[in-house]
Amino acid sequence: MTGTGPSPTRNTPQRAAVLRALGSCPDFVSAQMLHARLVTADCAVGLTTVYRALRQLQAAGRVDVVRDETGERLYRRRGAQGHQHYLLCRRCGRSRPVDAGVVERWAEQVAETSGYAEVEHTVELTGVCGRCRATAR
Ligand SMILES: [Zn+2]
Ligand SMILES: [Zn+2]
Repeated sequence: MTGTGPSPTRNTPQRAAVLRALGSCPDFVSAQMLHARLVTADCAVGLTTVYRALRQLQAAGRVDVVRDETGERLYRRRGAQGHQHYLLCRRCGRSRPVDAGVVERWAEQVAETSGYAEVEHTVELTGVCGRCRATAR
């Protein structure tokens, strides 16, 4: 894949490749990890392009973003069910989806009672997973 294809669609070949690679990752990955995956898959995409594609995908609501304990952004392709909240392990980066119905209802309520439009929210839950707790001692 060369990225010089003629298709003038909104989804550039690079962006599509980044999204595909992200879809094959079950867990959150950093831009560097994703870039390494693309390179080993023989997909010549620069790290800058990966960062740009991830920013665009985030803006388009196609990916979920969390931060690890160093502040680095980690990405995961968003499922068809819309946005999802996660509990992220600060040690190993493992994540699991959590039921956030209470947060969703509270956010809707705030939007209704405040009179604000397009209210969005970001909820980040981090902890130490069972596997890391077991190996910590
Ligand atoms: Zn862990
Ligand atoms: Zn939410």
